[in-house]
Amino acid sequence: MRLGVVRARCARLLADLGIDGPTSAKELADQLSRQRDRPIRLVAHPRLGEMSGFWIGTDDADTVFYDDALTGLHLEHVIAHELAHIAFGHGHDEVLAPDVLAALFPLLDPAKVRRTLARKEYSEAEEREAEVFASMLLQLSADPAADALTGMADDTRRRAADLTATFGSRRRDVR
Ligand SMILES: [Zn+2]
Repeated sequence: MRLGVVRARCARLLADLGIDGPTSAKELADQLSRQRDRPIRLVAHPRLGEMSGFWIGTDDADTVFYDDALTGLHLEHVIAHELAHIAFGHGHDEVLAPDVLAALFPLLDPAKVRRTLARKEYSEAEEREAEVFASMLLQLSADPAADALTGMADDTRRRAADLTATFGSRRRDVR
């Protein structure tokens, strides 16, 4: 896909979401969640290894995990990138390894999780589209280092810190 086409698709998505000015990644998540009528959670996670962020979908919600060491523009970009994958329906499902699932969601029935929870593998074109979208969102923001994420509840961060999954073997997503 030519870059011009990619940019047009991203611009259309922003327009569909009613976004035409400074918008934080958290606000983007809220807008996307309303449009899809499906909750999106943003969860800080320690030790994501080479990955900056990723998302997983279950029956009732989508959850974007991001490395809790990220701050400012980089953090905004990583979240916007993952939200673009969600919005565009990128990737194909690949079932997570059972040990990863057990570590991430120790309270869930593994059999059920394996049916409903999958990670995504992306093509280079999809990665580029997500990058273009995230860049366009940040360009809209006069003050892109919006601190919307600082309003995230402390218990959300604590819960995320309890997760002990290892992702070392997984391919890098956001660069
Ligand atoms: Zn990606």
